[in-house]
Amino acid sequence: MEKKLQNQTAIITGSSSGIGAGVAKALAREGANVVINYPVEHVRQDAENILAEIKSNGGHGITSRCDVSKEDEVKAMFDETIKEFGTVDILINNAGLQKDAPFDQMTLDQWNFVLSVNLTGQFLCSREAIREFLRRGIRPEVSMAAGKIICMSSVHEVIPWAGHANYAASKGGIMLLMKSIAQEFAWKKIRINSICPGAIQTPINKQAWETPEALSELLTLIPYQRIGIPDDIGKAAIWLASDDSDYVNGASIFVDGGMTLYPGFTTNG
Ligand code: NAD
Repeated sequence: MEKKLQNQTAIITGSSSGIGAGVAKALAREGANVVINYPVEHVRQDAENILAEIKSNGGHGITSRCDVSKEDEVKAMFDETIKEFGTVDILINNAGLQKDAPFDQMTLDQWNFVLSVNLTGQFLCSREAIREFLRRGIRPEVSMAAGKIICMSSVHEVIPWAGHANYAASKGGIMLLMKSIAQEFAWKKIRINSICPGAIQTPINKQAWETPEALSELLTLIPYQRIGIPDDIGKAAIWLASDDSDYVNGASIFVDGGMTLYPGFTTNG
């Protein structure tokens, strides 16, 4: 069967764990060369393990250390990728983290840390990707678009989240960053969209699913009555990265089991 992303190269930021790792495996399944990005040396082995799994299934890729909040490191990751594979076709802006605190106790460092990785990181990586897409233009033999960017946002780009103001602000910021650059570069045939995951079982939200009590509490927020898995996001990413979604641009795609459906109103409010 023909693979949807054959001869394309994808950088997936923060892909040594969780959703990023799931997306990397999914894109590799469809034939993409994948760049498994990790931020610091102590998670390098995790990145190598993900790459080894991908290669054992016939996929191709490299690992690349880069803190997405650092301009010089982002440029170096793109340079390394282009040197290895010739170009970049797909960017998955996935790296993200939380530093939670009640708002009146939130430090400037906690605020800046989350905004610098979750939002500035997406700015720096998107800018580098767009520069490469503009330089290269369309390769009709691989895709109708000159390049695709998928921003990992969250249901919290629309659901306010007490105790997590820095995180929710970063995701709200991603929404208008994504839509603004989608508008700016559509005429260059660059497509930019977001995936907004609901609750996906990963290290970031372990406390929300690690005990049966926590999981049952979480399920009250999910009409579809199951927690998501990284491959739920991987499948959406394949679609958004492929020409199957060629007319989709500037969209926030919610992959959340209905979390944004105001579940509190299910029994008439
Ligand atoms: P995770 O903690 O497993 O993944 C986050 C990844 O980002 C890690 O691999 C981490 O090493 C990497 N990272 C952190 N700082 C970085 C930096 N400066 N540079 C590069 N990489 C960095 O958690 P996850 O759930 O897989 O989260 C992935 C993305 O999905 C995040 O943007 C998160 O906000 C978003 N998200 C997750 C959920 C969920 O329920 N799990 C829901 C909505 C959105």
